[in-house]
Amino acid sequence: MDATKVDVPEELDENFKKFLTSKGLRVTNQRLAIFSAAFTCENHFTAEDLLDSARKLDDSVSRATVYRALPLLTQSGLIREVDVGKDYKYYAANKDAKTFQAQVICEDCDTIFEIDAPFMEWYGKTVAEKLGLTTVGQRLQVITKCHKSGSCKNIAAK
Ligand SMILES: [Zn+2]
Repeated sequence: MDATKVDVPEELDENFKKFLTSKGLRVTNQRLAIFSAAFTCENHFTAEDLLDSARKLDDSVSRATVYRALPLLTQSGLIREVDVGKDYKYYAANKDAKTFQAQVICEDCDTIFEIDAPFMEWYGKTVAEKLGLTTVGQRLQVITKCHKSGSCKNIAAK
């Protein structure tokens, strides 16, 4: 399958190519397949999920290539790392989120919701500035329970 058939906004595709070039890295088919795969994944994905999707686009993509590409994708700002305190990381493509994203994490069914939280971003920066510090990142996570009632799946389906 041709990686270019995946519906990645052209502008983002260009940004990723520019980013690779700026880092002195080659624009390879494998890197492009991984990048496209990240945008086909629903919401949050693990490195292993990304490997599966990337292999559907280009079966020469190896696990090592995915693990080496992930830091590049996060540095480029096109993908975010979402650490929910497990021994593996989740990732999410920055599709059209323009404001700070907080996560609501259901510990009963492992569903992760992203919510716009611009106020939290402002609050964090203000607190840091009062201390004379520069903010380099922020994280807000709300841990919830659904008691396996199925309500998370219903919300996610909306
Ligand atoms: Zn749940």
